Amino acid sequence: MKTCNTCGDVKPFAEFHRCKSKADGLSGRCKSCQSEYYREWRKNNASRAEYERKYRAENAEHLTAVHAKWQRENPEKCRTYTATHRAKKRAATV
Ligand SMILES: [Zn+2]
Repeated sequence: MKTCNTCGDVKPFAEFHRCKSKADGLSGRCKSCQSEYYREWRKNNASRAEYERKYRAENAEHLTAVHAKWQRENPEKCRTYTATHRAKKRAATV
């Protein structure tokens, strides 16, 4: 058993993530506190949307090339995808 340094609960070792840098090899936070911490971290730091926007901006050429290649290799899937996408969009706007 180990005490979580965040919520103070005493929990079984299985409730803690492994962490090589720690003396006992386990994270100081229990798993639920860790996921809560990450949720907060994501909210306070780069949001997923922001990350994706940046990624797209930085890799625009690469993504366009990948997409074009995929379209060439998967014309059928591409048509299906476009049709589904259009139908969804139409359903959303009406
Ligand atoms: Zn905890």
